[in-house]
Amino acid sequence: MQPSANESDIAFETMEDVLGRLDRVRPTTRGWSACCPAHADRTPSLSLAEGETCVLVKCWAGCKLDDIAAAMGLRVADLFYDSASDKRRTARSVSKRRDWRKEAAILEDEAMTLWLHANAVFAFASNLDTTAWTDEDWDIATDAICGAYGHMEQAEAFDIEAFNIRYTHLTKGVGIEPSGC
Ligand SMILES: [Zn+2]
Repeated sequence: MQPSANESDIAFETMEDVLGRLDRVRPTTRGWSACCPAHADRTPSLSLAEGETCVLVKCWAGCKLDDIAAAMGLRVADLFYDSASDKRRTARSVSKRRDWRKEAAILEDEAMTLWLHANAVFAFASNLDTTAWTDEDWDIATDAICGAYGHMEQAEAFDIEAFNIRYTHLTKGVGIEPSGC
């Protein structure tokens, strides 16, 4: 990939910036893999992909999105591309290169898995008797709840991503221009 003044510049710059902050970056069929900066990672367990609205990041060891972003010196918001029009232009150039139905289905599966995981944590947390809890118990619980919120956030990003992919392609098929969101 060469930097040039084309329509995928915003996505390219965002992804380049993220990849530049990671070690052992390698291209994969869907994007890139790298060592997760948020845990002691010996085998690269971080997956990255160029989404339609943001850089998609997932640690298969279960690190929270917030922590991964922080370990890279970024905020979660920094993973999103800049403006609505850029998002849409990026969406087109990214989707052309891939089987978009398959990509949308993969994203929805990932979103569902994250959502179920987060809900299991919330359900468990809501049934606990916290009267005799120590500070350490609270720390562990707070961490688990924060992790679950991170998963919910990532699930939502994946869902929006899948929706955008379908919307972009299906509206093109019936001659409707995608409207702003
Ligand atoms: Zn990790």
